Amino acid sequence: MRTALETARLVRSGEMTAVEVAEESLAAIAGADAEIHAFNTVVADHALEAASAVDAKVASGEDPGPLAGVPVALKDNMCTSGIDTTCSSKILEGWKPPYNGTVVEKLATAGAVLVGKTNLDEFAMGSSTENSAFGPTKNPLDTSLVPGGSSGGSAAAVAAQMVPLSFGSDTGGSIRQPAALCGTVGLKPTYGAVSRYGLIAFASSLDQIGPFTANVADAATAFEAIGGHDPRDSTSIPEPVPNAVEALGQGAQGLRVGVITELMGGAIDGFEPEVLQRTREAAEALAAAGATVEEISLPSMIYGLSAYYLIAPAEASSNLARYDGVRYGNRVTEGSSTADMMVATRTAGFGAEVKRRIMLGTYALSAGYYDAFYGKAQRVRTLILDDFNAAYEKFDVLLSPTSPCVAFPFGAKSDPLTMYLNDVCTIPSNLAGHPAISVPFRTGANDLPVGVQLLGPMLGEPAIFRAAAVLEGAA
Ligand code: GLN
Repeated sequence: MRTALETARLVRSGEMTAVEVAEESLAAIAGADAEIHAFNTVVADHALEAASAVDAKVASGEDPGPLAGVPVALKDNMCTSGIDTTCSSKILEGWKPPYNGTVVEKLATAGAVLVGKTNLDEFAMGSSTENSAFGPTKNPLDTSLVPGGSSGGSAAAVAAQMVPLSFGSDTGGSIRQPAALCGTVGLKPTYGAVSRYGLIAFASSLDQIGPFTANVADAATAFEAIGGHDPRDSTSIPEPVPNAVEALGQGAQGLRVGVITELMGGAIDGFEPEVLQRTREAAEALAAAGATVEEISLPSMIYGLSAYYLIAPAEASSNLARYDGVRYGNRVTEGSSTADMMVATRTAGFGAEVKRRIMLGTYALSAGYYDAFYGKAQRVRTLILDDFNAAYEKFDVLLSPTSPCVAFPFGAKSDPLTMYLNDVCTIPSNLAGHPAISVPFRTGANDLPVGVQLLGPMLGEPAIFRAAAVLEGAA
């Protein structure tokens, strides 16, 4: 399929109309999505209307924007005015937000054409998209395998060439891990670089929106299109978007790369040997392109998972209190009291994993346990940030695998702890608020794609894009 940039070029120059492009994308979805189930909702009429508006701009000589006519898919946890936004949960089934999130608006301004909303693990809790209340998404590379998660639908939509560009949210790895498992590029921007206004909250101090693309240049362009300060998000950084596109051609000469010992099998078990081998080869490719590459030990990495699985559920338990049958979402009327109604609503509306997170979170926050669990996890979070900050005095970027394994079969990780282990490489940058990207780099077991992760400091997107472009060229 055409890349996002090539699509925009064709539409901007009048060589193709945005309506033709939208029709192509809708036909690809109609052809493949009965099998893949990347989409919860397809908005064909909306897409054709938005595409006509782009064509009208081109015809009148007005600038149609850098993403003119590019079909995009959004994870179904981003508010789209008048369009179902479900978080793949029964509790929000049929809910149509009365407003657009900032990213949705920015994409429309950039000329992108929304074609639909993609499937996810319910409320973005999971690593395989098996936790969707509406059934799983299949990996387009092998439909017996999961696409990763929680943004599995967005990853699959790009991997199956239904759209050149999609967006997910990443709280602990939900963009990077499915990108790795589906063989696409996936970026988790710096916390605060992209507005969260209109993103339905899972864990507010960790959530970020970012793109899935077929190549690194599209990801850089998409990041610049959605980034920037937004007064409607109080955690938005009041600075311009870092210049990612400009960094793409800069090469690796002089770039200082640190390979994280603990995430290379040095302290944590369970990594597939091929995944580690590809990551070592990625380090060699950067060195061959002129980077200085060294190992760096970040001892706190091994505590990331434990800290995350206290902090994220704690925040989720608070964020999800609003789905009570009164303020948001569907209601089950049962029993004689308001409390009975709320219990019945939440019992019927939430799936098993969401309930598990709410219970973990309320427990970690409860009187008598708060200091031992939530408080301690926050102190670990500070240790992780300190370790990273010390490393970034010596290095421009850090390197690790994205996921310990390639795409796995449905049902293979049925106990929650095994599933949580999938996030071991991605979680630390969420806890630190730092950016990280997953780039496909060759293949592992069963010829399935391996993703390698490049991590950077606060607003360090230019450096990670610089290294990502080099890796893409060497893959
Ligand atoms: N897999 C992780 C979790 O289940 C991360 C999810 C995410 O990034 N949204 O919490």
